[in-house]
Amino acid sequence: MKFYILTLFPEMIEGVLNTSILGRAKNAGCISFEAINIRDYTLDKHKKVDDYPYGGGAGMVMQAQPIYDAYQAVCEKAGHHVKCIYLTPQGQLFTQPAAKSLALEEDICLLCGHYEGIDERVLEEIVDEYYSIGDYVLTGGELPSLVMIDAISRMVPGVLTNSESGEDESLENNLLEYPQYSRPETWNGKQVPTILLSGNHKKVDEWRHEKSIERTKERRPDLYAKFLENEC
Ligand code: SAM
Repeated sequence: MKFYILTLFPEMIEGVLNTSILGRAKNAGCISFEAINIRDYTLDKHKKVDDYPYGGGAGMVMQAQPIYDAYQAVCEKAGHHVKCIYLTPQGQLFTQPAAKSLALEEDICLLCGHYEGIDERVLEEIVDEYYSIGDYVLTGGELPSLVMIDAISRMVPGVLTNSESGEDESLENNLLEYPQYSRPETWNGKQVPTILLSGNHKKVDEWRHEKSIERTKERRPDLYAKFLENEC
């Protein structure tokens, strides 16, 4: 799967995506990414990419032309229409099911806004879907796009090894994951639950399922309600 990221700050993207599990997946050829500097596409002789908002108000607005041309270059390079996603606090909430569904795409283009946002006219022309990573406002779309790329990549076959597999994780079947423990058996006077040392896999699975339910009920009653709905 290939990610194209349209941004004014490509250096924010590259460091993160070349690190740890995503870096390994990239080197193995499971995913690839290209951060494209929107500024490279401006026709302005001073390399300007933003201007004051019509009607007044605070801040600057990213202009349509460089973004439109940068996106056209992405589609030309790919040889087909590439799904364009604009990261914005005005979008639908990005969730685990959305990550799973987007992982089925051959490629996607993530458009990162900055300052006060982007001229609406280019959004109308190129954007297929609008996503928010939560109900708060960040300075730019770079961190949200990295969040989305990380969550989507984990769902691309081959990115996680078997031992890292996401099957049992939080949010699967509307449950949070059970508590995890590692060596030593006693730390700070606290003992690992004895059932986990028993070697009885059936009992361990039952205990973990029970803890998942307990934890979800306590920490995420909204998710717990969905779990109950699906159980019925
Ligand atoms: N004026 C805009 C508004 O009220 O909707 C907010 C602009 S924000 C300061 C700058 C950029 O950060 C946005 O264009 C968007 O790309 C990104 N951004 C900020 N918060 C976000 C969020 N919660 N989810 C996704 N993107 C976000």
